[in-house]
Amino acid sequence: MPLPPGGYIGRFAPSPTGPLHAGSLVAALASWLDARAHGGQWLVRIEDIDPPRCSPGADLFLLQQLAACGLHPDQPPVWQSQRHALYANALQRLIQAGLAYGCACTRKEIEAALLAQGVQRARHQQAVYPGTCRLGSHGRAVRAWRLEVERIAGATDLHWQDRRLGPQTQNVAAEVGDFVLQRADGLWAYQLAVVVDDAAQGVTDIVRGADLRDNTARQILLQRALGLPTPRYLHTPLVLDARGEKLSKQHGAPAIDTRSAASCLAALRQAAQALGLPEEPGADAGISDQLLRWTTMWRARWG
Ligand code: GLU
Repeated sequence: MPLPPGGYIGRFAPSPTGPLHAGSLVAALASWLDARAHGGQWLVRIEDIDPPRCSPGADLFLLQQLAACGLHPDQPPVWQSQRHALYANALQRLIQAGLAYGCACTRKEIEAALLAQGVQRARHQQAVYPGTCRLGSHGRAVRAWRLEVERIAGATDLHWQDRRLGPQTQNVAAEVGDFVLQRADGLWAYQLAVVVDDAAQGVTDIVRGADLRDNTARQILLQRALGLPTPRYLHTPLVLDARGEKLSKQHGAPAIDTRSAASCLAALRQAAQALGLPEEPGADAGISDQLLRWTTMWRARWG
């Protein structure tokens, strides 16, 4: 899809792991408002590339919930599960350019190699792949495909600008390492699919939750490796539960109630509040009027 000059294309890209909850509605509303405030298009992409994590019917239910909240995409939604050929093509290009390599290491072998190098790793911290297969898989069968990050400009010192959070920087080589593009079980990594789809759909602006901020440097490196443009980014504040944890399906966040216009409006009001949009005392508007008012406020702040 060609990019309209000076145009704006935004998107909401939910993983259909469950219904919309207060946290995902914030990302949906923010991306919709940003697109409207810029006179742009708003797309919805169902990120169902990890079938074990998806819950059956959640995709259609999410779309219904968005529609009930007055958030209608400007083009028919797309499903990542129908776009494998695009991801395979991108991986081939990276391999041909010498930027991706096959990795034969099991998790145990990676742990053992790190231990042998004396690398201590904090609990829950992702292992930085020690690069064992960079020069070949030593006759072992290839399991996964990895990006050789240090071959890409900016891998050790990547700078980017977040519209809300300001200048950001990450040393992807040291903090993340050669990350996976296609997993040992054949599934595509989120990083590859999201970068390929954002470019294929001509997305100019990514507005999403701050929990995804940490992925951005990796995604920019991949854009560079594939010769794709880098969109603008805005990461929204996260909605936390009473324990201070991010609202998520894993933590049992309840679905927003979209059974009536009043309950949709209540959920939208809560999302708008999380986005710092001022409350209008006594405002008694319908969903579309309210969305219009928030669009004006959003334009004044982020336009
Ligand atoms: N599918 C991802 C999620 O639901 C979001 C991807 C993105 O916005 O970049 O967490």
